[in-house]
Amino acid sequence: MRNSLIEVANPRTSAIDYRFEPVNGAGLDALASRLRTAQNGWGIRSVKERCEVLLGWADALERHKDAIAAALETDTGRRRIARLEVEGAIASIRGWAGAAPHLLPRPQWVEGRMNSAIRHQAQDVPYALVGVISPWNFPLTLSLIDTIPALLAGCAVIVKPSEVTPRFVEPLNVTIEAAGLSDLLAFAPGGGQTGADLLDRVDVVCFTGSVATGKKVAARAAGRLIPAFLELGGKDPLIILESADLDRAVTAALRGSVLSTGQACQSIERVYVARKLYCAFLERLVEAARAVRFNWPDINTGELGPMIFARQAQIIALQLDDAVARGAKILTGGKIERHGGGYWIAPTVLSDVTHDMAVMTDETFGPVMPVMAFDGVDEAVRLANDTVYGLSAAVFAGTVEEAEAVARQLEAGAVTLNDAALTALFHEAEKQSFKASGLGPSRMGAAGLLRFFRRKALIAQTGAPAPLSAFSEG
Ligand code: NAD
Repeated sequence: MRNSLIEVANPRTSAIDYRFEPVNGAGLDALASRLRTAQNGWGIRSVKERCEVLLGWADALERHKDAIAAALETDTGRRRIARLEVEGAIASIRGWAGAAPHLLPRPQWVEGRMNSAIRHQAQDVPYALVGVISPWNFPLTLSLIDTIPALLAGCAVIVKPSEVTPRFVEPLNVTIEAAGLSDLLAFAPGGGQTGADLLDRVDVVCFTGSVATGKKVAARAAGRLIPAFLELGGKDPLIILESADLDRAVTAALRGSVLSTGQACQSIERVYVARKLYCAFLERLVEAARAVRFNWPDINTGELGPMIFARQAQIIALQLDDAVARGAKILTGGKIERHGGGYWIAPTVLSDVTHDMAVMTDETFGPVMPVMAFDGVDEAVRLANDTVYGLSAAVFAGTVEEAEAVARQLEAGAVTLNDAALTALFHEAEKQSFKASGLGPSRMGAAGLLRFFRRKALIAQTGAPAPLSAFSEG
Protein backbone atom coordinates (compact mmCIF):
# COMPACT_ATOMS: atom_id res chain seq x y z
CA MET A 1 0.00 0.00 0.00
CA ARG A 2 1.33 3.46 -0.91
CA ASN A 3 1.75 6.03 1.87
CA SER A 4 0.27 9.46 1.32
CA LEU A 5 2.80 11.86 -0.18
CA ILE A 6 4.49 14.50 1.97
CA GLU A 7 4.34 17.95 0.37
CA VAL A 8 7.33 20.27 0.62
CA ALA A 9 7.23 24.06 0.37
CA ASN A 10 9.92 26.10 -1.35
CA PRO A 11 11.33 28.57 1.22
CA ARG A 12 11.72 31.38 -1.33
CA THR A 13 8.16 31.16 -2.67
CA SER A 14 6.14 29.01 -0.21
CA ALA A 15 4.91 27.09 -3.28
CA ILE A 16 4.59 23.32 -2.89
CA ASP A 17 7.07 22.22 -5.53
CA TYR A 18 8.19 18.80 -4.25
CA ARG A 19 6.39 15.70 -3.03
CA PHE A 20 7.76 12.42 -1.78
CA GLU A 21 6.53 9.14 -0.40
CA PRO A 22 7.74 8.53 3.16
CA VAL A 23 9.42 5.22 3.92
CA ASN A 24 7.16 3.14 6.17
CA GLY A 25 7.83 0.35 8.64
CA ALA A 26 7.95 -2.41 5.98
CA GLY A 27 10.33 -0.30 3.89
CA LEU A 28 12.56 0.23 6.93
CA ASP A 29 12.50 -3.51 7.69
CA ALA A 30 13.75 -4.26 4.17
CA LEU A 31 16.45 -1.58 4.40
CA ALA A 32 17.60 -2.68 7.85
CA SER A 33 17.84 -6.30 6.79
CA ARG A 34 19.82 -5.47 3.60
CA LEU A 35 22.20 -3.16 5.45
CA ARG A 36 22.75 -5.55 8.37
CA THR A 37 23.74 -8.30 5.95
CA ALA A 38 26.26 -6.05 4.16
CA GLN A 39 27.63 -4.75 7.46
CA ASN A 40 28.85 -8.24 8.37
CA GLY A 41 31.56 -7.90 5.73
CA TRP A 42 32.12 -4.15 6.15
CA GLY A 43 32.70 -4.28 9.91
CA ILE A 44 35.56 -6.78 9.60
CA ARG A 45 37.43 -4.91 6.88
CA SER A 46 40.41 -2.85 8.03
CA VAL A 47 39.90 0.84 8.78
CA LYS A 48 42.29 1.60 5.95
CA GLU A 49 40.11 -0.30 3.46
CA ARG A 50 37.00 1.50 4.67
CA CYS A 51 38.82 4.82 4.32
CA GLU A 52 39.60 4.00 0.69
CA VAL A 53 35.93 3.31 -0.06
CA LEU A 54 34.89 6.57 1.59
CA LEU A 55 37.54 8.51 -0.29
CA GLY A 56 35.91 7.15 -3.47
CA TRP A 57 32.63 8.57 -2.17
CA ALA A 58 34.31 11.97 -1.66
CA ASP A 59 35.42 11.85 -5.32
CA ALA A 60 31.87 11.01 -6.40
CA LEU A 61 30.55 13.94 -4.34
CA GLU A 62 33.08 16.17 -6.06
CA ARG A 63 31.81 15.02 -9.49
CA HIS A 64 28.16 15.60 -8.53
CA LYS A 65 28.74 18.74 -6.46
CA ASP A 66 26.67 21.01 -8.70
CA ALA A 67 23.57 18.80 -8.66
CA ILE A 68 23.62 18.36 -4.88
CA ALA A 69 24.26 22.05 -4.26
CA ALA A 70 21.40 22.98 -6.61
CA ALA A 71 18.97 20.73 -4.72
CA LEU A 72 20.17 22.08 -1.37
CA GLU A 73 19.70 25.59 -2.69
CA THR A 74 16.03 24.86 -3.34
CA ASP A 75 15.76 23.16 0.06
CA THR A 76 17.19 26.14 1.96
CA GLY A 77 16.82 29.22 -0.27
CA ARG A 78 20.53 30.04 -0.03
CA ARG A 79 23.27 29.46 -2.60
CA ARG A 80 26.67 30.02 -0.99
CA ILE A 81 25.95 27.99 2.15
CA ALA A 82 24.47 25.20 -0.01
CA ARG A 83 27.78 24.95 -1.84
CA LEU A 84 29.73 25.17 1.41
CA GLU A 85 27.70 22.25 2.78
CA VAL A 86 28.78 20.03 -0.13
CA GLU A 87 32.41 21.17 0.05
CA GLY A 88 32.32 20.67 3.83
CA ALA A 89 31.06 17.08 3.41
CA ILE A 90 33.88 16.27 1.00
CA ALA A 91 36.45 17.85 3.34
CA SER A 92 34.95 15.98 6.29
CA ILE A 93 35.29 12.59 4.57
CA ARG A 94 38.88 13.34 3.59
CA GLY A 95 39.72 14.67 7.06
CA TRP A 96 38.22 11.65 8.83
CA ALA A 97 39.87 9.23 6.36
CA GLY A 98 43.24 10.82 7.19
CA ALA A 99 42.67 10.70 10.94
CA ALA A 100 40.74 7.46 11.53
CA PRO A 101 43.59 4.95 11.05
CA HIS A 102 45.53 6.70 13.83
CA LEU A 103 42.67 6.93 16.33
CA LEU A 104 42.01 3.25 16.97
CA PRO A 105 44.29 1.55 19.46
CA ARG A 106 46.28 -1.39 18.06
CA PRO A 107 45.04 -4.60 19.72
CA GLN A 108 47.68 -6.12 21.97
CA TRP A 109 47.81 -8.48 24.96
CA VAL A 110 48.46 -6.74 28.30
CA GLU A 111 49.61 -8.62 31.40
CA GLY A 112 47.38 -8.32 34.47
CA ARG A 113 48.74 -6.14 37.28
CA MET A 114 47.70 -8.52 40.11
CA ASN A 115 48.14 -11.81 38.25
CA SER A 116 50.52 -11.78 35.31
CA ALA A 117 49.21 -15.16 34.13
CA ILE A 118 45.97 -13.45 33.15
CA ARG A 119 46.25 -11.23 30.10
CA HIS A 120 43.70 -9.07 28.43
CA GLN A 121 43.16 -7.52 25.06
CA ALA A 122 40.52 -5.08 23.83
CA GLN A 123 38.40 -5.63 20.74
CA ASP A 124 36.52 -2.60 19.44
CA VAL A 125 33.27 -3.81 17.91
CA PRO A 126 31.23 -1.40 15.81
CA TYR A 127 27.48 -1.16 16.26
CA ALA A 128 25.95 -2.97 13.28
CA LEU A 129 23.27 -0.44 12.33
CA VAL A 130 23.24 3.26 13.23
CA GLY A 131 20.17 5.47 12.79
CA VAL A 132 20.75 9.15 12.05
CA ILE A 133 17.84 11.59 12.34
CA SER A 134 18.55 15.11 11.10
CA PRO A 135 16.95 18.59 11.08
CA TRP A 136 16.33 21.11 8.27
CA ASN A 137 18.77 23.92 9.03
CA PHE A 138 21.87 22.32 7.43
CA PRO A 139 20.25 19.36 5.66
CA LEU A 140 23.38 17.76 4.17
CA THR A 141 25.91 18.65 6.89
CA LEU A 142 23.73 17.34 9.70
CA SER A 143 22.81 14.18 7.78
CA LEU A 144 26.48 13.32 7.28
CA ILE A 145 28.21 14.65 10.42
CA ASP A 146 27.54 11.37 12.29
CA THR A 147 27.24 9.18 9.20
CA ILE A 148 30.83 9.60 8.00
CA PRO A 149 32.57 8.48 11.21
CA ALA A 150 29.96 5.73 11.73
CA LEU A 151 30.73 4.26 8.29
CA LEU A 152 34.48 4.51 8.96
CA ALA A 153 33.96 2.71 12.25
CA GLY A 154 32.44 -0.19 10.34
CA CYS A 155 28.74 0.45 10.93
CA ALA A 156 25.95 0.57 8.36
CA VAL A 157 23.77 3.69 8.53
CA ILE A 158 20.17 4.64 7.80
CA VAL A 159 19.56 8.40 7.69
CA LYS A 160 16.11 9.91 8.19
CA PRO A 161 16.48 13.46 6.83
CA SER A 162 14.09 16.27 7.70
CA GLU A 163 10.81 16.25 5.79
CA VAL A 164 11.22 20.04 5.44
CA THR A 165 14.35 19.77 3.25
CA PRO A 166 14.43 16.40 1.43
CA ARG A 167 15.37 17.43 -2.15
CA PHE A 168 19.12 16.90 -1.77
CA VAL A 169 18.65 13.16 -1.16
CA GLU A 170 18.05 12.23 -4.83
CA PRO A 171 21.34 13.63 -6.20
CA LEU A 172 23.17 12.41 -3.09
CA ASN A 173 21.91 8.87 -3.71
CA VAL A 174 23.65 8.96 -7.11
CA THR A 175 27.00 9.42 -5.31
CA ILE A 176 26.26 6.70 -2.75
CA GLU A 177 25.54 4.30 -5.63
CA ALA A 178 28.66 5.41 -7.55
CA ALA A 179 30.84 4.77 -4.49
CA GLY A 180 29.43 1.26 -4.06
CA LEU A 181 27.97 2.18 -0.66
CA SER A 182 24.27 1.51 -1.34
CA ASP A 183 24.20 -1.61 0.83
CA LEU A 184 25.80 0.24 3.76
CA LEU A 185 24.21 3.68 3.66
CA ALA A 186 20.57 4.39 2.91
CA PHE A 187 18.43 7.49 3.20
CA ALA A 188 14.88 6.91 4.40
CA PRO A 189 12.94 10.13 3.77
CA GLY A 190 9.86 10.71 5.87
CA GLY A 191 8.37 12.67 8.73
CA GLY A 192 8.30 12.09 12.48
CA GLN A 193 6.65 8.67 12.11
CA THR A 194 9.48 7.40 9.92
CA GLY A 195 11.94 8.73 12.52
CA ALA A 196 10.09 6.97 15.33
CA ASP A 197 9.89 3.73 13.33
CA LEU A 198 13.61 3.91 12.58
CA LEU A 199 14.35 3.90 16.32
CA ASP A 200 12.81 0.44 16.57
CA ARG A 201 15.23 -1.00 14.00
CA VAL A 202 18.70 0.35 14.80
CA ASP A 203 21.35 -0.37 17.45
CA VAL A 204 22.18 3.26 18.28
CA VAL A 205 20.63 6.57 17.27
CA CYS A 206 22.30 9.91 16.51
CA PHE A 207 19.62 12.56 16.72
CA THR A 208 19.99 16.26 15.90
CA GLY A 209 16.94 18.41 16.49
CA SER A 210 14.81 20.14 19.09
CA VAL A 211 14.73 19.40 22.81
CA ALA A 212 11.06 18.40 22.59
CA THR A 213 11.68 15.74 19.92
CA GLY A 214 14.97 14.76 21.55
CA LYS A 215 13.07 13.78 24.72
CA LYS A 216 10.73 11.54 22.70
CA VAL A 217 13.72 9.95 20.94
CA ALA A 218 15.49 9.38 24.27
CA ALA A 219 12.38 7.77 25.79
CA ARG A 220 11.88 5.42 22.84
CA ALA A 221 15.57 4.53 22.74
CA ALA A 222 15.49 3.85 26.50
CA GLY A 223 12.56 1.47 25.93
CA ARG A 224 14.81 -0.58 23.66
CA LEU A 225 17.93 -0.01 25.79
CA ILE A 226 19.85 1.43 22.86
CA PRO A 227 22.11 4.48 23.24
CA ALA A 228 20.78 7.82 22.03
CA PHE A 229 23.36 10.47 21.13
CA LEU A 230 21.39 13.70 21.25
CA GLU A 231 22.45 17.08 19.80
CA LEU A 232 19.67 19.51 20.68
CA GLY A 233 18.88 23.19 20.85
CA GLY A 234 20.65 26.09 22.50
CA LYS A 235 20.32 29.67 23.75
CA ASP A 236 23.96 30.62 23.43
CA PRO A 237 25.16 33.68 25.35
CA LEU A 238 27.98 36.02 24.32
CA ILE A 239 29.68 37.96 27.12
CA ILE A 240 31.64 41.08 26.16
CA LEU A 241 33.98 42.26 28.92
CA GLU A 242 35.09 45.86 29.37
CA SER A 243 38.56 45.12 27.96
CA ALA A 244 37.22 43.73 24.66
CA ASP A 245 38.03 45.15 21.24
CA LEU A 246 34.68 46.66 20.32
CA ASP A 247 34.95 46.35 16.53
CA ARG A 248 35.91 42.70 16.70
CA ALA A 249 33.15 42.02 19.22
CA VAL A 250 30.55 43.63 16.93
CA THR A 251 31.82 41.68 13.90
CA ALA A 252 31.70 38.37 15.79
CA ALA A 253 28.35 39.06 17.47
CA LEU A 254 26.69 39.88 14.15
CA ARG A 255 28.11 36.91 12.24
CA GLY A 256 27.57 34.53 15.18
CA SER A 257 23.95 35.56 15.45
CA VAL A 258 22.67 36.16 11.94
CA LEU A 259 24.64 33.72 9.76
CA SER A 260 22.18 31.30 8.13
CA THR A 261 19.44 33.73 9.24
CA GLY A 262 20.09 32.57 12.78
CA GLN A 263 18.91 29.06 11.91
CA ALA A 264 21.84 27.36 13.58
CA CYS A 265 21.94 25.57 16.93
CA GLN A 266 25.15 27.38 17.97
CA SER A 267 23.89 30.87 17.04
CA ILE A 268 24.49 33.66 19.53
CA GLU A 269 21.01 34.29 20.96
CA ARG A 270 21.81 36.62 23.91
CA VAL A 271 24.48 39.31 24.29
CA TYR A 272 25.68 40.62 27.68
CA VAL A 273 27.91 43.71 27.48
CA ALA A 274 29.93 45.47 30.21
CA ARG A 275 27.96 48.61 31.07
CA LYS A 276 30.84 50.90 30.08
CA LEU A 277 30.73 49.56 26.49
CA TYR A 278 26.96 49.08 26.27
CA CYS A 279 25.90 52.24 24.38
CA ALA A 280 28.84 52.22 21.95
CA PHE A 281 28.33 48.48 21.31
CA LEU A 282 24.61 48.87 20.63
CA GLU A 283 25.21 51.79 18.29
CA ARG A 284 27.78 49.91 16.21
CA LEU A 285 25.79 46.66 16.24
CA VAL A 286 22.68 48.44 14.95
CA GLU A 287 24.73 50.11 12.20
CA ALA A 288 26.27 46.79 11.17
CA ALA A 289 22.89 45.01 11.33
CA ARG A 290 21.27 47.62 9.06
CA ALA A 291 23.90 46.99 6.38
CA VAL A 292 22.97 43.29 6.04
CA ARG A 293 20.97 42.48 2.88
CA PHE A 294 18.62 39.68 1.90
CA ASN A 295 19.58 37.40 -0.98
CA TRP A 296 16.35 38.55 -2.62
CA PRO A 297 15.36 38.97 -5.42
CA ASP A 298 18.79 37.89 -6.68
CA ILE A 299 20.12 34.87 -4.82
CA ASN A 300 23.64 35.90 -5.82
CA THR A 301 23.53 38.99 -3.62
CA GLY A 302 23.24 39.70 0.09
CA GLU A 303 24.03 37.70 3.19
CA LEU A 304 20.66 36.46 4.49
CA GLY A 305 18.35 33.84 3.04
CA PRO A 306 14.67 33.30 3.91
CA MET A 307 13.38 31.35 6.86
CA ILE A 308 13.58 27.73 5.68
CA PHE A 309 10.57 26.61 7.70
CA ALA A 310 7.64 29.07 7.73
CA ARG A 311 6.55 27.94 11.22
CA GLN A 312 9.85 29.27 12.58
CA ALA A 313 8.89 32.79 11.43
CA GLN A 314 5.77 32.57 13.62
CA ILE A 315 7.84 31.51 16.65
CA ILE A 316 10.15 34.52 16.15
CA ALA A 317 7.20 36.91 15.74
CA LEU A 318 5.60 35.62 18.96
CA GLN A 319 8.86 36.06 20.89
CA LEU A 320 9.28 39.62 19.60
CA ASP A 321 5.65 40.52 20.47
CA ASP A 322 6.15 39.11 23.97
CA ALA A 323 9.41 41.06 24.42
CA VAL A 324 7.87 44.36 23.30
CA ALA A 325 4.82 43.80 25.51
CA ARG A 326 7.20 43.38 28.47
CA GLY A 327 9.14 46.57 27.71
CA ALA A 328 11.85 45.64 25.17
CA LYS A 329 12.78 48.11 22.44
CA ILE A 330 13.42 47.00 18.85
CA LEU A 331 16.32 49.11 17.55
CA THR A 332 16.39 47.63 14.06
CA GLY A 333 14.62 44.82 12.16
CA GLY A 334 11.88 43.14 14.14
CA LYS A 335 9.31 42.42 11.42
CA ILE A 336 8.61 39.26 9.48
CA GLU A 337 8.70 40.42 5.86
CA ARG A 338 7.14 38.69 2.84
CA HIS A 339 9.10 38.73 -0.40
CA GLY A 340 8.22 36.51 -3.33
CA GLY A 341 6.01 34.39 -1.06
CA GLY A 342 8.84 33.53 1.36
CA TYR A 343 9.28 34.65 4.98
CA TRP A 344 12.22 36.89 5.80
CA ILE A 345 13.50 38.70 8.85
CA ALA A 346 16.24 41.30 8.90
CA PRO A 347 18.85 41.26 11.69
CA THR A 348 17.03 42.43 14.77
CA VAL A 349 18.62 44.20 17.74
CA LEU A 350 16.70 44.49 21.00
CA SER A 351 17.52 46.55 24.09
CA ASP A 352 15.78 46.78 27.49
CA VAL A 353 15.42 43.03 27.67
CA THR A 354 15.00 40.95 30.84
CA HIS A 355 15.04 37.28 31.66
CA ASP A 356 11.26 37.16 32.02
CA MET A 357 10.97 37.48 28.22
CA ALA A 358 10.78 34.37 26.00
CA VAL A 359 13.40 35.92 23.72
CA MET A 360 15.91 35.57 26.59
CA THR A 361 14.94 32.06 27.66
CA ASP A 362 13.55 30.08 24.70
CA GLU A 363 15.45 29.13 21.55
CA THR A 364 14.68 31.75 18.86
CA PHE A 365 16.42 30.22 15.81
CA GLY A 366 16.40 33.54 13.99
CA PRO A 367 18.67 36.58 13.45
CA VAL A 368 17.67 38.21 16.73
CA MET A 369 20.18 39.85 19.11
CA PRO A 370 18.80 40.89 22.50
CA VAL A 371 21.49 42.95 24.27
CA MET A 372 21.72 43.47 28.05
CA ALA A 373 24.23 45.44 30.15
CA PHE A 374 26.02 43.90 33.17
CA ASP A 375 27.92 45.50 36.04
CA GLY A 376 30.45 42.87 36.96
CA VAL A 377 31.82 39.53 35.78
CA ASP A 378 29.84 37.62 38.43
CA GLU A 379 26.60 39.10 37.12
CA ALA A 380 27.56 38.28 33.52
CA VAL A 381 28.30 34.66 34.44
CA ARG A 382 25.06 34.37 36.44
CA LEU A 383 22.99 35.73 33.54
CA ALA A 384 24.75 33.55 30.96
CA ASN A 385 24.15 30.42 33.08
CA ASP A 386 20.50 31.34 33.78
CA THR A 387 19.13 28.96 31.13
CA VAL A 388 17.98 25.37 30.73
CA TYR A 389 20.34 25.07 27.74
CA GLY A 390 24.09 24.43 27.70
CA LEU A 391 25.11 24.00 24.08
CA SER A 392 27.83 26.64 23.66
CA ALA A 393 28.78 30.21 24.59
CA ALA A 394 31.31 32.92 23.78
CA VAL A 395 33.42 35.43 25.71
CA PHE A 396 35.22 38.50 24.40
CA ALA A 397 38.02 40.13 26.42
CA GLY A 398 41.25 42.04 25.91
CA THR A 399 43.27 38.84 26.30
CA VAL A 400 42.57 35.15 25.80
CA GLU A 401 43.57 34.58 29.46
CA GLU A 402 40.92 37.00 30.74
CA ALA A 403 38.30 35.43 28.48
CA GLU A 404 39.38 31.95 29.61
CA ALA A 405 38.83 32.81 33.29
CA VAL A 406 35.19 33.61 32.50
CA ALA A 407 34.74 30.73 30.02
CA ARG A 408 35.69 28.23 32.74
CA GLN A 409 32.66 29.35 34.77
CA LEU A 410 30.11 28.86 31.99
CA GLU A 411 27.81 25.84 31.90
CA ALA A 412 28.18 25.03 28.20
CA GLY A 413 29.74 22.29 26.09
CA ALA A 414 31.99 24.66 24.15
CA VAL A 415 33.04 28.24 24.74
CA THR A 416 34.52 30.39 21.97
CA LEU A 417 37.08 32.95 23.15
CA ASN A 418 37.38 36.26 21.27
CA ASP A 419 35.10 35.16 18.44
CA ALA A 420 31.61 33.64 18.32
CA ALA A 421 30.11 30.26 17.38
CA LEU A 422 33.43 28.71 16.35
CA THR A 423 31.95 25.22 16.77
CA ALA A 424 30.25 25.82 13.42
CA LEU A 425 33.62 26.21 11.72
CA PHE A 426 35.94 24.03 13.79
CA HIS A 427 35.14 20.37 14.43
CA GLU A 428 38.36 19.07 15.94
CA ALA A 429 37.71 19.86 19.61
CA GLU A 430 35.68 17.33 21.61
CA LYS A 431 32.59 18.82 23.23
CA GLN A 432 29.54 17.44 25.01
CA SER A 433 26.31 19.32 25.44
CA PHE A 434 25.46 20.46 28.96
CA LYS A 435 21.99 20.54 30.54
CA ALA A 436 19.04 20.21 28.10
CA SER A 437 21.19 20.70 24.99
CA GLY A 438 22.02 17.06 24.56
CA LEU A 439 23.24 13.74 25.78
CA GLY A 440 26.06 11.36 24.96
CA PRO A 441 29.65 11.50 23.83
CA SER A 442 31.12 14.22 21.60
CA ARG A 443 30.47 14.11 17.87
CA MET A 444 33.55 16.27 17.37
CA GLY A 445 37.17 15.16 17.74
CA ALA A 446 38.34 11.57 18.24
CA ALA A 447 35.24 10.63 20.26
CA GLY A 448 33.20 11.33 17.12
CA LEU A 449 34.58 8.05 15.75
CA LEU A 450 35.24 6.07 18.92
CA ARG A 451 31.62 6.36 20.18
CA PHE A 452 30.53 3.95 17.43
CA PHE A 453 32.46 1.07 19.00
CA ARG A 454 31.68 -1.07 21.98
CA ARG A 455 34.78 -2.24 23.76
CA LYS A 456 34.92 -5.95 24.29
CA ALA A 457 37.51 -7.50 26.62
CA LEU A 458 39.27 -10.78 25.76
CA ILE A 459 40.69 -12.13 29.04
CA ALA A 460 43.12 -15.04 28.68
CA GLN A 461 44.30 -17.44 31.35
CA THR A 462 47.87 -18.48 30.52
CA GLY A 463 48.31 -20.40 33.77
CA ALA A 464 46.11 -22.97 35.49
CA PRO A 465 42.45 -22.01 36.16
CA ALA A 466 41.78 -21.52 39.88
CA PRO A 467 39.84 -24.46 41.48
CA LEU A 468 36.68 -23.84 43.48
CA SER A 469 38.62 -24.75 46.65
CA ALA A 470 40.60 -21.52 46.29
CA PHE A 471 37.41 -19.78 47.44
CA SER A 472 36.47 -22.26 50.15
CA GLU A 473 35.33 -20.77 53.48
CA GLY A 474 37.13 -23.37 55.54
P1 NAD B 1 12.79 18.65 15.12
O1 NAD B 1 13.10 18.12 16.48
O2 NAD B 1 11.44 19.17 14.85
O3 NAD B 1 13.04 17.51 14.02
C1 NAD B 1 14.28 16.87 13.89
C2 NAD B 1 14.08 15.53 13.18
O4 NAD B 1 13.35 14.66 14.03
C3 NAD B 1 13.31 15.61 11.87
O5 NAD B 1 13.92 14.78 10.92
C4 NAD B 1 11.93 15.08 12.26
O6 NAD B 1 11.23 14.49 11.19
C5 NAD B 1 12.32 14.02 13.27
N1 NAD B 1 11.24 13.62 14.19
C6 NAD B 1 10.12 14.31 14.54
N2 NAD B 1 9.41 13.61 15.45
C7 NAD B 1 10.11 12.47 15.70
C8 NAD B 1 9.90 11.35 16.57
N3 NAD B 1 8.83 11.27 17.37
N4 NAD B 1 10.84 10.38 16.58
C9 NAD B 1 11.93 10.45 15.80
N5 NAD B 1 12.17 11.47 14.95
C10 NAD B 1 11.28 12.49 14.90
O7 NAD B 1 13.92 19.74 14.82
P2 NAD B 1 14.01 20.72 13.57
O8 NAD B 1 12.97 21.77 13.71
O9 NAD B 1 14.10 19.93 12.32
O10 NAD B 1 15.47 21.37 13.80
C11 NAD B 1 15.69 22.50 14.57
C12 NAD B 1 16.22 22.10 15.94
O11 NAD B 1 17.43 21.36 15.78
C13 NAD B 1 16.59 23.29 16.78
O12 NAD B 1 16.15 23.11 18.10
C14 NAD B 1 18.12 23.29 16.73
O13 NAD B 1 18.73 23.94 17.81
C15 NAD B 1 18.41 21.84 16.68
N6 NAD B 1 19.77 21.61 16.15
C16 NAD B 1 20.74 21.15 16.99
C17 NAD B 1 22.04 20.98 16.52
C18 NAD B 1 23.14 20.47 17.42
O14 NAD B 1 24.19 20.05 16.92
N7 NAD B 1 23.01 20.53 18.73
C19 NAD B 1 22.33 21.26 15.19
C20 NAD B 1 21.32 21.75 14.39
C21 NAD B 1 20.02 21.90 14.86
